[in-house]
Amino acid sequence: MSKGGHVGVLALQGDFREHIAVLRSLGADAVPVKRPEELDRVAGLVIPGGESSVMDKLSRLFGIAEPLKAAIRSGLPVYGTCAGLIMLADTVLDSIEGQQTLGGFDLAVRRNAFGSQLDSFETDLDIPVLGDLPVHAVFIRAPVVETVGERATALASLDDGRVVAVEQDNLLGTSFHPEMTGDTRFHEYFLRKVRAA
Ligand code: GLN
Repeated sequence: MSKGGHVGVLALQGDFREHIAVLRSLGADAVPVKRPEELDRVAGLVIPGGESSVMDKLSRLFGIAEPLKAAIRSGLPVYGTCAGLIMLADTVLDSIEGQQTLGGFDLAVRRNAFGSQLDSFETDLDIPVLGDLPVHAVFIRAPVVETVGERATALASLDDGRVVAVEQDNLLGTSFHPEMTGDTRFHEYFLRKVRAA
């Protein structure tokens, strides 16, 4: 891990504190990132859940959107959960007017894909790259991945086949919130990516 071993969590909005706590529990030197100069100091970045349209606006306001796009394209390991996954996707369906993303992840994701009937739910997922034990996944006004582009790979799907975890080189994304369940395997998987980069 270069850059002093710091792992950043984008701290503009959303549940960044929970991600920092999980990363620190795993021994990582996790730091909040809001400004471009803070981005320069991290070897990897988590983009938390929250509200993607707000995070988008704040990222542009703080001047971090453009440097972050460049960092993603030059190989910075980035893990997006829920709204964070939306921020990473090349294409967003059901976005609000004017909503932009950082992009880089060869995906189309649909915001709020489970509608108002089923805002939040929990389920167990088989995720072979994390081992035999299923992952308990918490979905909160979650997106789904509607199209997995050629450069991306699906890591997990719901019983109906909808994709909810994805990977592409330096990028990792989940529709759900591993920072809320005490299962640290996704964060460990991400930290291995950071160390390998
Ligand atoms: N619905 C939110 C969005 O569109 C995501 C919800 C979440 O991150 N838990 O950004």
